[in-house]
Amino acid sequence: MTRRPMIAGNWKMNKTPAETRAFIEALLPQVDAELACDLLVIPPYTSLDLAGRLLADTGVRLGAQDLHTSPSGAFTGAISAGMLDACGCAYVLVGHSERRHVFGDSDATVNAKLRAAIAGGLTPIFCVGERSEQRAAEQTTAVLAHQLTEGFAEVAATEASDVLIAYEPVWAIGTGETASPDQAQDAIRFIRNWVADQYTASLAEGMRILYGGSVKPNNAAELQRQPDIDGALVGGASLEPESFLQIVQAAGRGAS
Ligand code: PEP
Repeated sequence: MTRRPMIAGNWKMNKTPAETRAFIEALLPQVDAELACDLLVIPPYTSLDLAGRLLADTGVRLGAQDLHTSPSGAFTGAISAGMLDACGCAYVLVGHSERRHVFGDSDATVNAKLRAAIAGGLTPIFCVGERSEQRAAEQTTAVLAHQLTEGFAEVAATEASDVLIAYEPVWAIGTGETASPDQAQDAIRFIRNWVADQYTASLAEGMRILYGGSVKPNNAAELQRQPDIDGALVGGASLEPESFLQIVQAAGRGAS
């Protein structure tokens, strides 16, 4: 089965609406209509409405960085799936390592967010990954299995088939230290096998699983050449249209 790669740019807490406009206006003329992968930008909440309007009917998709578990209510500072949908978002990150480790999202919260995204009609990109000490202690697969088991609790196969997963080793995010292609491939193969065991082989075969962690123009092609890697979740290098597009082009060269 051929899985269409996705290159997603997570801007984190960067870019005002004016900077968002400048980025999108620089990006769009350079996006090739025949592109062999999906392109996704993930701005901060304050830029989503504008980005949604600028990206409408362009083929470049829009995602959000997080959501609340409830559809509405007394949750000061929070944003719901319905609000994201109304801004033109089709995707949302769930369980990004900064949400887990900086903001303290528990496995139970991440599971509730995954189910809220699905219920709200958004496609979740569910993030998993081990810390450096866990890798050093050879606990990587145990950590991934735990995060997957907790995260997908009470998620039916019909719902899971729409989810993307991003393998993002915590030690590689924002550090400049990338997982080697073999390390990324092994972890992503493990995740695909877990999905096959939990659901079905064909669901696992069709699921897009991205790698994230210091992806740059000079390492994207080799990562993308790995048989189980279906694209990249990019932080720092997605902030400039040039480097983001170089990664898109490199990923296209890597795609089989
Ligand atoms: C991320 O934010 O998900 C990420 C992988 O960041 P960076 O590419 O900067 O490591």
